[in-house]
Amino acid sequence: MSASFIHNLSLPELTSLLVEWGEPPYRARQIWQGLYCNYWGNPKDFSNLPVALHQKLAKSLEFNTLVPTTTLQSSDGKTVKTLFQLHDGKAIETVLMKYDPSTTLHRTQLDDSGQGRRTLCVSTQVGCAMGCVFCATGQMGFKRHLSSGEIVAQVMYFARLLHDQGEVVTNVVLMGMGEPFHNYDNTMAAIDRLNDPDGFNCGSRRFTISTVGLVPAIRQFTAEKRQINLAISLHSVDDSLRTSMLPVNKRYPIDELLKACCDYVAATGRRITFEWALVNGVNDTPDQAQLLASKLKGLLCHVNAIPLNHTKGYSGKATTYKHAAEFREILTRSGIPCTVRLPRGVDIQAGCGQLESTG
Ligand code: SAH
Ligand code: SF4
Repeated sequence: MSASFIHNLSLPELTSLLVEWGEPPYRARQIWQGLYCNYWGNPKDFSNLPVALHQKLAKSLEFNTLVPTTTLQSSDGKTVKTLFQLHDGKAIETVLMKYDPSTTLHRTQLDDSGQGRRTLCVSTQVGCAMGCVFCATGQMGFKRHLSSGEIVAQVMYFARLLHDQGEVVTNVVLMGMGEPFHNYDNTMAAIDRLNDPDGFNCGSRRFTISTVGLVPAIRQFTAEKRQINLAISLHSVDDSLRTSMLPVNKRYPIDELLKACCDYVAATGRRITFEWALVNGVNDTPDQAQLLASKLKGLLCHVNAIPLNHTKGYSGKATTYKHAAEFREILTRSGIPCTVRLPRGVDIQAGCGQLESTG
C-alpha cells in the first residue's frame, strides 16, 4: 500500500504533510474532521477547504483504494457482505451485522447493548497464514497484511452507508479475514485512528479482537492495558485435537495459551471471551464440555459457541441444536457463562470462517 492513501495517515502525520505543503496546521484538522466526523470520501466533498486544496488533495493523496465490487444481503436482510478490490488487485470481505435479541438461543444472555447493535466484522489480512482446517480464509493461505488504512477504510465505508440511513456503526469486531495479532501494529494503529475523540470517536470498548492464540502478542496486548475486548479462538482444550484443527497449537499449546489468558485477566480485570466452533461429534460432546469447564474454572470469562459453518475444504458437520444446548448446559452448571449463537449470513457465505476471496 502506498503511503499516500489518506486513511493510512494519523493526525500528526497528516499535519506534517500539510505543513510541508505550506498550509497552516489547522487545515489538517479540517480534513480529519471531514473524513472521520462527516464521513466525506472524496476531495471535492471538503466544502470547508479552499478549492486549490481540493485539487492538491486529489493529486497527492489516494481516497478510494478500496473499491466495493460485490455486495450481498442475506435473505433476512440482517447481514450484508461486501467484497472490496484493493489497489493491487487482491480482495477482502467485510460483513455488517444488524442485531436484534432473537439472534441468540437465550435472550437473557444477551448483553444490554444487544438490541440495535450494528456490528462490523472487518478483515486484517488478505488470506491467513494460520491454516485452521475449518476456516475458508485459512484454506486460501496467506497473501498479505492489510495496511492500517485498509482496515480503517472498511469501517468508514460502512459508517458512511449507515450514516445515510440515519444509523451508526456501534461495534467493530476484528474477526474477518486474517489473524489480527499476526498484523499487530497495523491493527492497533487502525483502532487508535478510529478511537480519536475528535474524529470517528469509536471507543476502545466497542472493539473486539479475536485471535487464534498467538501467545507473545497476547502478552504484548496485556502489557499495553488497552480497553479493547479480547476473544480467543479455543475450539478445544485437548492438545492433540486442537492441533489437528488449529496447527498453531503446536507452537503455543493449550496450557501456555491459557496461562497467558489468566495473566491477561489478572492484569486488566477484564473478562475474556473464548470462541468455540461446535463440530458434530468432534468438540461438541459432554466430555469436551466438561474438560473445558475444568480448564476455565475460576477464570473471568465467557464462552461463545458457534455451530460450525460449512466451508469447501472441511468435511466436519455443524453440531445439532440438542448437542449445543447440552454443551451450554454443562458449562453453565459449572459456573461458566456460555452463549450459543445462531449462525447468521450463511446463505451469503458471510458466517464465521466463511470469508474468502480469490485475490
Ligand atoms: N483469525 C482470528 C479472527 C478471524 S476468524 C481468529 O481465528 O480468531 C473469526 C472466528 O471464526 C474465529 O473464532 C474462528 O475460529 C471462527 N471460525 C473459523 N472458521 C469457522 C467455521 N467454519 N465455522 C464457525 N466458526 C469459524
Ligand atoms: Fe486465520 Fe482465524 Fe481462519 Fe484460523 S480461523 S485460519 S486464524 S482467520
